[in-house]
Amino acid sequence: MVHQKINLDRLSPEEALITPTYASRALTSAVPKYEIPEGEMPPAVAYNLIRDELALDGNSRLNLATFVTTWMEPEAKQLMAETFDKNMIDKDEYPQTAEIELRCVNMIARLWNAPESEAATGCSTIGSSEAAMLGGMALKWQWRKRRQKEGKPTDKPNLVMGINVQVCWEKFSRYWEVEPRFVPMEGSRFHLNATEAIKLIDENTIGVIAIMGSTFDGSYEPVQEINDALEKLNRETGWQVPLHVDGASGGFIAPFLDPDLVWDFRLKWVKSINASGHKYGLVYPGVGWIIWRDRQELPEELIFHCNYLGGDLPNFALNFSRPGNQVVAQYYNFLRLGKEGYRQIHQACRDTALYLSGEIAKMGPFELITDGSTIPVFAWKLKETISDQSNYSLFDLADKLRERGWLVPAYTMPKNRQDLTVQRVVIKEGFSRDMAALLLRDIHSAIAFFQSQSNYQSKLSGSHFHH
Ligand SMILES: *Cc1c(COP(=O)(O)O)cnc(C)c1O
Repeated sequence: MVHQKINLDRLSPEEALITPTYASRALTSAVPKYEIPEGEMPPAVAYNLIRDELALDGNSRLNLATFVTTWMEPEAKQLMAETFDKNMIDKDEYPQTAEIELRCVNMIARLWNAPESEAATGCSTIGSSEAAMLGGMALKWQWRKRRQKEGKPTDKPNLVMGINVQVCWEKFSRYWEVEPRFVPMEGSRFHLNATEAIKLIDENTIGVIAIMGSTFDGSYEPVQEINDALEKLNRETGWQVPLHVDGASGGFIAPFLDPDLVWDFRLKWVKSINASGHKYGLVYPGVGWIIWRDRQELPEELIFHCNYLGGDLPNFALNFSRPGNQVVAQYYNFLRLGKEGYRQIHQACRDTALYLSGEIAKMGPFELITDGSTIPVFAWKLKETISDQSNYSLFDLADKLRERGWLVPAYTMPKNRQDLTVQRVVIKEGFSRDMAALLLRDIHSAIAFFQSQSNYQSKLSGSHFHH
């Protein structure tokens, strides 16, 4: 790192008032980057400096890589700006923010069909990653208690999941010293299934993770099938291996678009579910949620109790201070949109995803892995007949699209399909049919460019180039 020592000349108050922003001295000399400057600068100057620098970031509306919300209504923005000062942890100072969190927990628990006969509980988090840590900890503690009661060793916990899990589950395993057992991909199976999950389970398995909306291709994992296989296994062995559903994306899609799909607390072994409020919950980053079907599933030792509301507000979090305004924004969306509003927005996203994937399939060189009919996310590959002869890879295509501002990532699949390179699009609220048409035009011209360059050499080779 270069440590620059620059003393900005201080502007006099008079000067600061009348100098045109871009003529001020602060903007005609370099700004300090690695040391806090000695002097001050006018707020307008600081604002413009930083805003202009951030213009170098990608345009979030053209970012088809992220799952995270990039647009909210002006009223939601205003409400968030007015509640920037709310600290989520100060439940005694901001009891109404805490009450709103509790209402959201109730709304989400009902959305996920928490049984009336059980007392669902849960909380907001900074995102699905924190929710995964909390959910994983509950699984580990519960497993350990069962083992201790049986007088059995508790030193070798493991967690069963597909190799397609988001990195948060690898983090959980390492941070909490749980052996991760990954089911690899095989052929055209790109996620977990019941048969393969069952093979890896033993008496030390703290749980199985099933994903609603796989990061790699958007597909739903067969949660019901896994639940039924667990029911059989648990009956035969006397174990109580539970299921946690990572619904980071799908947790806010499936209830609205696929109400008949049974993946949530309607299934006996689904003990907890997480979702990202800042993905298809439609809130700016960062807010996530985790719900347990019954408070029994959340070990008492992990909860810190606050009783400021007269009721019992379980406090279970890794962070202490955290913005409260994202929870407020989540509540805004629930009230403002209702179930019908969510359904319409997500249906529009799904329609756009299906349209776009259909057009990409028609182009010729590509074959779809998924089409966006689960969460509005889909992935494609170069057709095998083409990839051996073509002078470009999907990495080159991603690079070419980036020249136009589009962020459409290409990546290789994990074990055992590292030979396969795919490219993925995530459709979010605010991505219109018009923008889809622009993207298609740019993909067409990128292909035309590669085809017209007979001596073009793939600069960025995917793993299918080095078998
Ligand atoms: C995005 C994602 C996560 C991580 O969620 P954050 O809210 O970004 O922490 C975990 N699991 C899945 C399946 C995801 O898509």
